[in-house]
Amino acid sequence: MARSFTEPKLVLATHNPGKVVEIAALLEPFGVEVVSAGELGLPEPEETEATFDGNARLKAHAAARAANLPALSDDSGLAVSGLDGAPGIYSARWAGPGKDFSVAMARVETELGDNPDRSAHFVCALTLAWPDGHDETFVGTVHGALTFPPRGEHGFGYDPIFVAKGHTQTFGEMDPAQKHAMSHRADAFSQLVAACFEDA
Ligand code: IMP
Repeated sequence: MARSFTEPKLVLATHNPGKVVEIAALLEPFGVEVVSAGELGLPEPEETEATFDGNARLKAHAAARAANLPALSDDSGLAVSGLDGAPGIYSARWAGPGKDFSVAMARVETELGDNPDRSAHFVCALTLAWPDGHDETFVGTVHGALTFPPRGEHGFGYDPIFVAKGHTQTFGEMDPAQKHAMSHRADAFSQLVAACFEDA
């Protein structure tokens, strides 16, 4: 049985503005006051784990301890089948210190070369951690295929090269509400809500 979330406020344990926007939108119906790690000036911990859920736990616990509030973290990335799952947990790092995702998307295209397998999926691990050390973690996915050159101005990260299964627009071209309803983050979030919010 998962622990219910009953507190009025939580910290979003991310410094990524794209994620802050998406997660704050997902949390809005629950009337929870949300403050981001960036706003509180919390340090960004080094992501030293080898898995999405390991890094999500690490970030949520660091923020929950530092802020003495429940904290929700997101560790996510793009797994490309033809690249054995890369960039995976290194998705942010492929963009380099300047966080330039045109560089990261160009690297995916170059490394794929003429590989006909263009399938890929996004993964999102969400951890809700409490200051007493308890946590609940949920992993969501969305499957699709990559397309080049990048298309669309919405979203963030690798959105302009990802087309979800059954769709023709990239996540970068899609209306943000449509992406939010079907994304890996929405999948993990609906698991979190069912486990920790619905009976709260
Ligand atoms: P993290 O902060 O280490 O979890 O970095 C995750 C990285 O994965 C982000 O910086 C993006 O590059 C990528 N990513 C995660 N979710 C999405 C998404 O919804 N769209 C596009 N890129 C994403």
